[in-house]
Amino acid sequence: MRLILLGPPGSGKGTQAQRLVHRYGIVQLSTGEMLRAAVAAETPVGLKAKDLMANGQLVPDEIVVGIISDRIDQPDAAKGFVLDGFPRTVPQAEALDELLKKKHLRLDAVVELRVNESALLQRVETRVAEMRARGEEVRVDDTPEVLTKRLAAYRSQTEPLIHYYSERRKLATVDGMMSIEQVTREVNRILSAVGALEPKAAPARKAKGAARKSAKPAARLAAKPAKKARKVAKTASKGGKKAGRKAAAAVKGRGAGKARKAAKRAVPKAAKKVTKKRAKR
Ligand code: AMP
Repeated sequence: MRLILLGPPGSGKGTQAQRLVHRYGIVQLSTGEMLRAAVAAETPVGLKAKDLMANGQLVPDEIVVGIISDRIDQPDAAKGFVLDGFPRTVPQAEALDELLKKKHLRLDAVVELRVNESALLQRVETRVAEMRARGEEVRVDDTPEVLTKRLAAYRSQTEPLIHYYSERRKLATVDGMMSIEQVTREVNRILSAVGALEPKAAPARKAKGAARKSAKPAARLAAKPAKKARKVAKTASKGGKKAGRKAAAAVKGRGAGKARKAAKRAVPKAAKKVTKKRAKR
């Protein structure tokens, strides 16, 4: 699963990303987090980003694109990822398209969390107050003044992405003013609707199919009647119910041979004809 969470600062992208990480075992790729780590470590990237971030301005595209490209190549991102805070400009979105294409990866969805701005200011103030109460360090760009600048940057540079992804039929919008739980439910519903959950289910199906293909012919043959027995056991007539139950039990635990015998007993006449015909084939 690969998706983008789009939304202004404070819209809940980080919270929802964390929930996706726990639920689907994917990784959260937050450029903000990565840049903060770079600033703290005083790397060359961190030194370039530090003042821009403190002022609520965006870091140059090439820096964040480089970071994301490297990060996507890490083994833990192979299962999928949720991009949080990236892309933030149209050139970043174009660069992402390009690098996903090169890496033969598909983007499943872009989920926009839509919120109103006054609520955002309120949220940030609450978050800052809570962090202070816990004795945690507050981000330098989490003040109302810097947030106003970050919101302006979002409006002018990031909001065009809504059009960019809706044109590409990737965009789904969620009301970010709902409760965290409701937003999560809606995000999951969208992911399931776009088939983003398939990659997780697919290997299991594939593995099953592959196991059947690679199984010895005898084992494969044995698997078939067991399957049939399960069907037949279900349709067993009233009198054959006991045998039907035996068939079902046999399917569950005692192997195909017994299942076939038990099923035979359970099959009503009409069903027997069909089974015989199929057996001839
Ligand atoms: P965030 O934690 O996502 O709110 O990001 C904090 C700050 O990091 C932003 O205000 C920007 O200065 C910088 N930043 C994070 N992601 C990006 C990005 N994709 N492009 C440019 N700057 C970014």
